[in-house]
Amino acid sequence: MKISQLNAHNFLSFFAILLALNPVNAAEPNSILRIVTTVPPITNIVENVGGANVDVVGIVPNGIDSHTFEPVPADAKILADADIIIVNGLDLELPTIKLAEKVKKSGTPIIHLGNSTLKKEEWQYDFSFPREHGHPNPHLWPNIALTMRYVEIIRDSLVEFDSRHKKSYMANTSTYLTKLKQLDEAIFSCVKTIPEKNRKLITYHDSFAYFAPRYGMQVVAAIQPANFTEPGPREIIRVIEQIKKEKIPAIFGSEVFPSKVMEQIARESGAKFIDELSDDELPAKPNNSFIGMMVNNMVIMSDALGGDPNCVVNVDTSNLAH
Ligand SMILES: [Zn+2]
Repeated sequence: MKISQLNAHNFLSFFAILLALNPVNAAEPNSILRIVTTVPPITNIVENVGGANVDVVGIVPNGIDSHTFEPVPADAKILADADIIIVNGLDLELPTIKLAEKVKKSGTPIIHLGNSTLKKEEWQYDFSFPREHGHPNPHLWPNIALTMRYVEIIRDSLVEFDSRHKKSYMANTSTYLTKLKQLDEAIFSCVKTIPEKNRKLITYHDSFAYFAPRYGMQVVAAIQPANFTEPGPREIIRVIEQIKKEKIPAIFGSEVFPSKVMEQIARESGAKFIDELSDDELPAKPNNSFIGMMVNNMVIMSDALGGDPNCVVNVDTSNLAH
């Protein structure tokens, strides 16, 4: 009697350890992996890789400034229920990560995509993200080679936590990477259509720091100061003079960060002001995907800088069907 009780006890302990080590695999067979993400591009990428076997909730709403975003109380419950939390990292979502660490289940990992993609010495510090503030530029995803690394990290995490659906995650990843490769090649071809002297970006928000070196463009200035307020008059004059000197035909803003300053700079420098670039906000249907966002960016950029906006016509912006 005593021995069989002991065995039962051992068996239960063993089972408890199994559960702790492998929470999802040990769960009921039909359970869906609950993934919580942050910014819309990452949410969209995770949805494409995860497909029908995951439930993805993005904490940062579309069209909201992710850099100053503070989670609301309802987000605590969402984070507490998550099986995996996937963030960009590189200090982009500090308040959300702080909350997640407080409320998440003990077995739930927080995957920092940016930190796993770049080594510290590859982090960029520049206009809005100066080294002395200690926060690197977090916008890796407009560089599609880096996005492809994100996708592989996401795939590996899903396979590790939910090996039952490995086949599906591998297949989705392979299809999605093919689409990203097509996008990457199209971006190269877009930049080639822009006259060499115009391959210069002046943006309000500093989100093309990793994009520019890959595709052969130069970020001449990003105007938004490190504290996300408006720049001072001296900086504005400096930029106006630079635009005139370098004959830069257009400057770019984004809908997430409306700025009167950019209109003033455009007026006084003679450059066109186009306020539609996006690093965060996904476009409306039918292009409502990360790939669609980058396609829109390339149409806008190519057109404004004297290139051919048809450079992206062959890119498939649709999300993977599930
Ligand atoms: Zn941003």
